[in-house]
Amino acid sequence: MTAKIIDGKAFANNLVSDLAKKVKILESKYQFKPGLAVVLVGNNPASEVYVKNKIKQTENSGMVSIEHRLPETTSQKELLNLITELNLDNSIDGILVQLPLPKQINENAVINTISAEKDVDGFNIINAGLLATGGDGLIPCTPLGCLLLLQDYLKDLTGKNAVIIGRSNIVGKPMAQLLTQSHCTVTIAHSKTINLENLCKNADIIIAAVGRPKFVQGEWIKKGAIVIDVGINRLPPVEGENGKGKLVGDVDFERASKNASAITPVPGGVGPMTIACLLKNTVTAACKRRKIDLT
Ligand code: NAD
Repeated sequence: MTAKIIDGKAFANNLVSDLAKKVKILESKYQFKPGLAVVLVGNNPASEVYVKNKIKQTENSGMVSIEHRLPETTSQKELLNLITELNLDNSIDGILVQLPLPKQINENAVINTISAEKDVDGFNIINAGLLATGGDGLIPCTPLGCLLLLQDYLKDLTGKNAVIIGRSNIVGKPMAQLLTQSHCTVTIAHSKTINLENLCKNADIIIAAVGRPKFVQGEWIKKGAIVIDVGINRLPPVEGENGKGKLVGDVDFERASKNASAITPVPGGVGPMTIACLLKNTVTAACKRRKIDLT
């Protein structure tokens, strides 16, 4: 079997085109463009790249992005003050604070200061609680992107055995909630899990979110399973690669493709979906706050 490659980039482009149409309607019928505030503290090179991409895509979709760059030495109080201002600013529909933050700042304090209705990352406790209890909150972008890809490929996820590798608040845990709501039987594996290989061999769906290159072996994949690779790992550069190493996921893509029925590549799989879902959440937040129904 050779797996179908799930083209996250193409799916994300379609999603962004649909959102751009909605933004046009908001502009012509309701006289506003959704606004996303992106806050970057310090000079983490990976964060710089993520923020640049998020801002570019926000503007491509016709929305307004407002960038706030703060120095590495910013205090928690200064950052919380900025978030409070953004919470009160009526032109701002979504607030994204790029993680990680410098060590003097408590991430949870920051995440939970963002008003739930503008929390387009879906990380704060109100949105996490709404997701856990089946409520209508903002859903974390990466798991939402994975779910959209799975729904597109499978149509119905009912009864599928899903193994999620990783239990982070931003990927693993919300992914488990979404798949449970989609009627999957869900196992969350983590660093203390015993015999991961056997769990994977029984999985119809594998979501890998570990952060270790080629951690999931090709032989662990059941024939016909669907593999969603969330991991983004940069390998050390080899000669002739212009100083930049290759990007790989958490799954041994070549060998897993021989057993899986479908698999996401890295890059070009989950990554573009994460950004598209950030824009989706921004439009959702803008409409909800103004009680506009665009469906
Ligand atoms: P994290 O470091 O917070 O969590 C990693 C998880 O892996 C932990 O829950 C840990 O228990 C688990 N783990 C570690 N070793 C393990 C082992 N031996 N067996 C089983 N589980 C093990 O990471 P995260 O923030 O959830 O991100 C995971 C990966 O996904 C990273 O590579 C990150 O860069 C990537 N990521 C990608 C996107 C995207 O848009 N594609 C978004 C978020 C994260």
